Amino acid sequence: MRVSFDLDEVLFVSPVTHKTEPALRFPLNRIFRERLRLGTVRLIKELHAQGYEVWVYTSSFRSEKYIRRLFACYGVRFDGIVNGARHLREVQRGHSETLPQKLPNRYNIALHVDDESVIASYGREFGFDVFELYAEDADWAEKLIKTASEVRQRRELRKKEHGGA
Ligand SMILES: [Mg+2]
Repeated sequence: MRVSFDLDEVLFVSPVTHKTEPALRFPLNRIFRERLRLGTVRLIKELHAQGYEVWVYTSSFRSEKYIRRLFACYGVRFDGIVNGARHLREVQRGHSETLPQKLPNRYNIALHVDDESVIASYGREFGFDVFELYAEDADWAEKLIKTASEVRQRRELRKKEHGGA
């Protein structure tokens, strides 16, 4: 099952308002200035260990290469990255109406983590689960693991009910 993360205010937070992972060493800290929410590294490794695919879905225009390199400095890899440019190219293109700024279900993402409550309402409308996260929360990683496992169970159950194996 695919789980995706927003970047700004979710994985990238301000050390003034949130506990963060240690900054990178010079000169990397000059190239990659974003600070990661404390627990990000362990959580993503744990999600991989539990068999989830982990994606980034951001409406920012940071390049995929930049995002991959930044997280590689922390030993974290992603299975897929959707940034603002990719979303415009693959999701929005060809639609005259403006679609929501993120549609994780288009990438078969079952659970998306975001700080914006509007994304949660799109989730209800378009059929993907959203874990809302904004404020500092010491237990966010445990809560997310629990939500992911509930979503996975629910999907497996639904698959069985619809004539699967
Ligand atoms: Mg955000």
